[in-house]
Amino acid sequence: MSSVDASTMDVDRAEQHEQELEAEARRLDEAAPQDILRWAVERYRPGIALACSFGMQSVVLIDMLHKLDLLGDVEVFYLDTGVLFDETHQTRFRIQQRYGFDAERVEPELTWTGQQNQYEGHLYERGPEGINACCRIRKVEPMRRYLKGRSAWITGMRRRHAQTRAQLPVALWDRANGLAKVNPVAAFDTETLWGYIKANDVPYNPLYDQGYKSIGCNTPICTRPVAEGEDERAGRWAGMGKTECGIHVDGKSVRSLDSSQL
Ligand code: SF4
Repeated sequence: MSSVDASTMDVDRAEQHEQELEAEARRLDEAAPQDILRWAVERYRPGIALACSFGMQSVVLIDMLHKLDLLGDVEVFYLDTGVLFDETHQTRFRIQQRYGFDAERVEPELTWTGQQNQYEGHLYERGPEGINACCRIRKVEPMRRYLKGRSAWITGMRRRHAQTRAQLPVALWDRANGLAKVNPVAAFDTETLWGYIKANDVPYNPLYDQGYKSIGCNTPICTRPVAEGEDERAGRWAGMGKTECGIHVDGKSVRSLDSSQL
């Protein structure tokens, strides 16, 4: 088969997946996250993974999967950029102990120190281009490698995180990575998540009690506390015109984001 035929088949297959997932997203748009999780796990196991930041939505999803008795069917992974907050690692230990699993550590090829040596300092201090390069090396590329060959991934993305996520469906075909992407808490607001965490006594990152609303890497530029009334992700790369690290750019929405967000 010629490479032209093969790539036409790939496009046809991607369009079939897109159509299937658009229909599922419409059907499940008002469903409870637990129903979306049950559908996703039954449809895509054994190749389904949960991207876990140990943020508030991740810990809720883990608790829900545990209560549905489906946690064992999902590979939980986290991106260890080498510069996560100590509180994030402590939250991971508490969650792993509480629910009885070990999250898969996904890491970049370059260590944090190795990257500073290779690039002669911190890329994140070099404006949007440096930040994009750093996120690509430490998050986007390791995650692409990890997701390769899998059938679906679950995220904690929410429509209210930021304007860039306002139209987020509960399921879509992730063209950039070639697998289904499921967002069970897309419609949840922050109050509902906190209500779930408190009602179910779910361990959470203590940085939320210090004014942080979206927790990423521990550098002065990449994560800071957020003031009342700001977007929840306003504390990520503040002042850099960037709200996404690039791991949540799929083949469709990439066209609606400017290059500084990749
Ligand atoms: S969030 Fe900051 S430190 Fe983390 S990968 Fe992106 S630029 Fe680098």
